[in-house]
Amino acid sequence: MKGTTGKIGVTTENIFPVIKKFLYSDHEIFLRELVANAVDATQKMKALAASGDFSGELGELSVRIELDESAKTLKIIDRGIGMTEEEVDKYINQIAFSSAGEFLEKYKDQLSNIIGHFGLGFYSAFMVSDKVTIETLSWKEGAKGVMWSCDGSPEYEMSECDKNDRGTVITLYIGKDEEEFAAKGRIQTLLDKYCKFMPVPVVFGKEQEWKDGKYVDTDKDNVINKVEPLWAKKPSELKEEDYQNFYRTLYPMGEEPLFHIHLNVDYPFNLTGILYFPKIKDRMEIARNKIQLYCNQMFVTDSVDNIVPDFLTLLHGVIDSPDIPLNVSRSYLQSDANVKKISGYITKKVADRLEDIFKNERESLESKWDNLKLFIEYGMLSDEKFCDRAMKFCLLKNTEGKYFSIDDYKKAVEGEQTDKDKKVVFLYATDADAQYSFIEEAKKKGYDVLMLDCQLDSHFVNLLEMKIENARFARVDSDSIDNLIPKEDKIRPELDETEKSDLDVIFKAVLPAGNNYVVEADNLGEYSAPIVITQSEFMRRYREMSALGGGMNFYGEMPASYNITVNMQNPLVARIMESKLADVKPAEVVEDAPADASEEQKNSVNEAKKAAADAHNAQLKEFAGNNGILKQITDLALLANGMLKGKDLSDFIARSAKVVEDAYLK
Ligand code: ADP
Repeated sequence: MKGTTGKIGVTTENIFPVIKKFLYSDHEIFLRELVANAVDATQKMKALAASGDFSGELGELSVRIELDESAKTLKIIDRGIGMTEEEVDKYINQIAFSSAGEFLEKYKDQLSNIIGHFGLGFYSAFMVSDKVTIETLSWKEGAKGVMWSCDGSPEYEMSECDKNDRGTVITLYIGKDEEEFAAKGRIQTLLDKYCKFMPVPVVFGKEQEWKDGKYVDTDKDNVINKVEPLWAKKPSELKEEDYQNFYRTLYPMGEEPLFHIHLNVDYPFNLTGILYFPKIKDRMEIARNKIQLYCNQMFVTDSVDNIVPDFLTLLHGVIDSPDIPLNVSRSYLQSDANVKKISGYITKKVADRLEDIFKNERESLESKWDNLKLFIEYGMLSDEKFCDRAMKFCLLKNTEGKYFSIDDYKKAVEGEQTDKDKKVVFLYATDADAQYSFIEEAKKKGYDVLMLDCQLDSHFVNLLEMKIENARFARVDSDSIDNLIPKEDKIRPELDETEKSDLDVIFKAVLPAGNNYVVEADNLGEYSAPIVITQSEFMRRYREMSALGGGMNFYGEMPASYNITVNMQNPLVARIMESKLADVKPAEVVEDAPADASEEQKNSVNEAKKAAADAHNAQLKEFAGNNGILKQITDLALLANGMLKGKDLSDFIARSAKVVEDAYLK
């Protein structure tokens, strides 16, 4: 063959600057593309030998990367099928580039959207090189060596060369602006990132050892892909330990995962992979971008957020699929039919696996539940399909640490905890210490209390209320125990307007300022506490959700609102009411102004009424301030809720100490 020169068949004259500009942030992928080509050529060679089309010596088939830091050249060397002159012309000069050209033309307007890793193939070498050469010898009988070279303009040179071993050597002359790629450390890092699981050994120099105060080469090859891609094996051949070990190679610093799923499907799309459920204890710990996406064992990306539903990005592991289009924009990816199918498939597999664990490894599920819960709840809150599946295997934990499925729990409590409207009331606590007295109160009644103390639980409660038929959730401290699960319409104490207003004034006088209080009289029984302080379920949920960023800030800024339930049947309350009758004169009665009274007369009557009410209230307040029992029972109720603080708390302690002294020492 005579040396030839020619023009590469590109559609755009100035394609090289375009490539450089387009792929600016992702220059490093050139190495992945070139190694992938070398691996492909090697795999094809193996296939030819296996089919008998090639009967010669295969030889050592590693792909070798050689860097000369001082000459700034990088070689990718394979012992694959090589190319004949016609093939170089066809694949390199014509086809490969024209497709890249078309691609760039087509997406020119959405550059910023373009995913960094589209397969530009061989030509991505020009992102980092001033000049690229190919020396290649085809496996075919009688083939001659070909030397191709191009300096980044669309002009190339091609001539015969005396390469005498089969395969291809690509040599990159690293450009001045790209010298980072002529550094050993950088190349090692890139190979580790992209080539760790490639199916043909990839060798980069020699392993090193520490000798006489410095690192020196040993005679052992430095193989990049030492670890087997476990996902490519059959699940039946693998032991639990293999999955654990593989996890450690992926995330050397990671904590042991809880469970794993081995994905393996070849119709209607190809997908393999291993996903791990990590321990998640805290919302703050959540680490996304832990799933690595591969395409035929070649690393593509670790941000899979357009490929799997959001909640699944909390999982760790590997997905490998040649059917995920890599050369399109991210927004396109989400609407791609294949990607949708893949996403649906993965969600289904995750649900299947969890259901299987629920059925067959219940003990293990219970022991790991606290670390898995956040993931499941997040999934249920964000993905309707997953939620419907998860209703079966989602567990609820009660304050005694027992776990139930949702169905079982409902069956277990519906006998005792069905209210007069036939709704099963799921009682729950969010803080075992702070709500201790309420939890005990409920247990005494024969009720069960769930523990919902995870960050998503306030949203989760709303979700469960929608999903579980005829059920309602109530936090144990959101009302007095009888009112939490009202069984029949009970008789409320009858108070007239004056009595109600007096009760209100008396109690507000001894409660800490700064909150809203609704004082109500109720009959809770002679032996129940004189006062119960609760926070309405409704208001509390809104406040919590707005604190979580639910957007309902109006409620978040409101002062806390408490219900003060006064138990009129309690003897201490009865005593206070008696003393009030004795100590506080009824308000002075001011006659209404006659209907035909003048405006002036009406005003003075109103003023007299107000003065009478003020005088009465002042007396009530004075009474309240001096009534030791009233102060003491109110403080006790506050204390039970953790609301007694500062001076009030210290006064209470002093008063209580005195009560004890009076009782025992006098
Ligand atoms: P793609 O790999 O996507 O087909 P490339 O531009 O990377 O696009 O390569 C074009 C073609 O050139 C390949 O399909 C292959 O036939 C040939 N080729 C590239 N590199 C090699 C190699 N190292 N050995 C043999 N053939 C190669």
